Amino acid sequence: MTLRNSDFDEIRVWDNENFVHPWEGMEHIGQNERTFTETADGIYVTTEAGKRLIDGPAGMWCVQIGYGNGEIADAMATQARDMAYFSPFNNANSVPARLAHEIAKRTPGDLNHVFFTTGGSTAVDTAIRFVHFRNNILGRPEKKIVISRQKAYHGSTFLAASVSGKERDKGWLDQAQGMSYFLPNVNPYIRPEGMSLQAFLDEKVADLENAILEIGADKVAAFIAEPILASGGVIVPPKGYHKRCLDICRKYDVLYISDEVVTGWGRLGHWFASEDVFDIVPDIITTAKGLTSGYVPMGACIISDALIDSVSGEKSQGATFSNGYTYSGHPVSAIAALKNIEIFEREGILEHVREVSPLFQERLTALGDFPIVGDTRGMGLVGCVECVVDSNSEDSLDLDKTVGARIDHHCQELGLILRPIINMCVFSPPLIINVSQINQMFDIMEKGIKLTTEDLAVKGLW
Ligand code: PMP
Repeated sequence: MTLRNSDFDEIRVWDNENFVHPWEGMEHIGQNERTFTETADGIYVTTEAGKRLIDGPAGMWCVQIGYGNGEIADAMATQARDMAYFSPFNNANSVPARLAHEIAKRTPGDLNHVFFTTGGSTAVDTAIRFVHFRNNILGRPEKKIVISRQKAYHGSTFLAASVSGKERDKGWLDQAQGMSYFLPNVNPYIRPEGMSLQAFLDEKVADLENAILEIGADKVAAFIAEPILASGGVIVPPKGYHKRCLDICRKYDVLYISDEVVTGWGRLGHWFASEDVFDIVPDIITTAKGLTSGYVPMGACIISDALIDSVSGEKSQGATFSNGYTYSGHPVSAIAALKNIEIFEREGILEHVREVSPLFQERLTALGDFPIVGDTRGMGLVGCVECVVDSNSEDSLDLDKTVGARIDHHCQELGLILRPIINMCVFSPPLIINVSQINQMFDIMEKGIKLTTEDLAVKGLW
């Protein structure tokens, strides 16, 4: 449907009065001036005003193969006509069965049991519920605590939020009591002055072991970690961190849940990052987003054969894993995911990401030369610029909180959307981005940071 500019005046009222957005700030609810984006192609989205912008965050780190892919759209339309829905509770369907098999072929080790969910939060929820369920069957109902990390984000359902460690999100919402434990931030950038990276790594690994010893291994069910802590600010842990954490988990019979909602499906140049990038075979992988390239909602909680075997058959005591969704394995989502995988392979998307990532990371590092930039970090096709406006403080909450939004504002004027988070901007463009588009993206960012520096100087903040 083609809308005229004037139509948006009325639709903006509906958006404000009827659509409650995620992370809705209640102070300004009903008064937002959000930009409408109505069409998109490749790495670009087009706004209501007809402005075409590079989608720096690929939606929410999810539109891997880019927008406007007719093959996925056609496959979904055909599936909707043939069979829009089947009940996963009562029946089977070939499309999600094929998808489960295709996923299992690409996961590390014996992670072959795929439980389909509606997104990332429900995948994490399912993982925690399965871990608890298993410990109930194994006769150790007190082994339930999940160790997570400060700044982690695992989702917005009650359990997933309860293992998420962003302080800012905890203020007004309840958490599951006594179920989680948070390790200190693993960001090497904020390590004490003079501390070597090796010493920092040793300390972070020791944090996990000490937590298990403090709580008691008989009470700790699992450790959950994003390979790269994404919305917490693209925090890349020191090399060897995940491997050593997995060793600690094995030592104390604690399960390892690798949350690959962002790092899966090519973001780091591999189907999954756990084994190929971080050298670990976890017990459970949670994933979503890039699984369908964001064309339709779907997530998955992928469980190892060993875990399933430990509670199946006679060992199950007749238990049922009473967890699941009306839309588990939805055929329209599943066909989109199957097509997505086919396109990844045919177009060599993983190889492409590995090829262009060095340029992306090189241009990202160069942004560190701007005086307001304190740190740049990333891997594959994901990056973060962290500004330090008040150079005497490295606590982001003390800094000019709007600096990320200021950079984003300037970049949008120049043709690029970023994702501002307090004093940071994160970005993870569609994986099909080419060399000249990467250069264009970073050229704009350089201008945006320069203009922001000038703004701050005018305001006396810099
Ligand atoms: N885990 C991670 C690492 C995420 O980044 C997110 C979403 N950004 C989630 C879980 C939750 O996924 P969803 O929003 O699809 O529920």
